[in-house]
Amino acid sequence: MSATPTPSSSSSSSSSSSAPASDAGSLRIDPERLRAYLDAFASPDVGGTPQGGVSRPAASDADKAARDRFTETARELGLEVRFDDVGNMTARRRGADDAALPVLIGSHLDTVVPGGRFDGILGVAIALETVAAMNDADARTQRPVVVVNWMGEEGARFPPAMLGTGVITGQWDAAYAHSRTDADGIRLDDALERIGYLGEPEHRVGDFFASLEAHIEQGPQLEQSGALVGIVPRVEPVRWNMVRVTGTGGHAGGPGPGGRHEAVVAAARMIVAARDSAVADGAFKTTVGRMRVEPGSTNVIAHEAEFSLDVRAHDDETLDRRLDELEALFRSIAGEEGVGVEIDRFWSMRSPAFDERIQRMLERAADARGIRWQHTVGTIGHDSVHLAGAGPTAMLFTQTRDGRSHCEDEFAPWESVVATAQVFADTALALANSRELDSAS
Ligand SMILES: [Zn+2]
Repeated sequence: MSATPTPSSSSSSSSSSSAPASDAGSLRIDPERLRAYLDAFASPDVGGTPQGGVSRPAASDADKAARDRFTETARELGLEVRFDDVGNMTARRRGADDAALPVLIGSHLDTVVPGGRFDGILGVAIALETVAAMNDADARTQRPVVVVNWMGEEGARFPPAMLGTGVITGQWDAAYAHSRTDADGIRLDDALERIGYLGEPEHRVGDFFASLEAHIEQGPQLEQSGALVGIVPRVEPVRWNMVRVTGTGGHAGGPGPGGRHEAVVAAARMIVAARDSAVADGAFKTTVGRMRVEPGSTNVIAHEAEFSLDVRAHDDETLDRRLDELEALFRSIAGEEGVGVEIDRFWSMRSPAFDERIQRMLERAADARGIRWQHTVGTIGHDSVHLAGAGPTAMLFTQTRDGRSHCEDEFAPWESVVATAQVFADTALALANSRELDSAS
């Protein structure tokens, strides 16, 4: 299906609570209990701020308190709690075939400082509510269901972001993760040990049958369309580049202006050309966020100019093609200006598409409940991007007021939260009872 928004054929926009149970299962989520889970991970004793947000960097005292609460809550639900050697937490509900590959559900409890009460937290709360609803229904699933709290998704204290899932999916090894330091020079392994959550590598999540994460959209698409639930085909990939332009320096009162080979002028032309091609195309974005000029004197023609270039598009193929075109454009400008240019493509977040079979299951679950959904491409990285490289993975989004997140007034409308939780729970149950992933199932 296309990645453009495609609202479901259902004209109903009613919330799930009044809709009949779908044939996907008989789970009925309890909105009040869900709200209690959400509040429990945003209260002052676990990092909640007076302005209604949450400040909870990974492996902090607040994170320890939230982890203890997660443990306690999961045990009350009858789950077995473990944590691995990089602090990822799992809470496991047994399956009838307990050796079958599990279904992973959850998100992250760490936040930026100060952050909101929904980013990450909502996904863990919805996962806990899903298990509570399974318990209410006495649902004995074929497969184990594992609620996850991934370590350090935000990278706020121990960059890079998505560190916990990066290790379990093989992006980085544990030694790399352990050696990450915070602004005070404290290592991650020491910080995890101090709060009692440095565990064993044997407790890592291994192969999984499917992974499902609910998250706030952090963008305006759902709010603008009025759809309550976003089914995410992919998260936009990102490429980071440094562009270094070298020209000929000299005195500002010397030769010119004609005949000069000015690094700054050439760089400026490149920046504008990148923006113009992005605007003309409409399918990618370029951003220059940093610039350095040498030697940096008012009366000296700069011999060097360097700028960062962040480029994003809907998919990896388009992005790499656009980046090649930009590089050719920059070289032709450099030729016209008589300067040199080097482009260092130093970081990339690739974006494997999320699993289409799980997306179809999510669509059917939403349709069965009469919940209005739409395909919503993500524009910010999530743990699910790493997980998608390791097994069948999908994401759901809730609306986000004004598209604002990573701030204390981050807010997801409750009707959208409840609808998302219901679609999530129905699909998690269906996955946990699936022998294999088959869009016809
Ligand atoms: Zn998040």
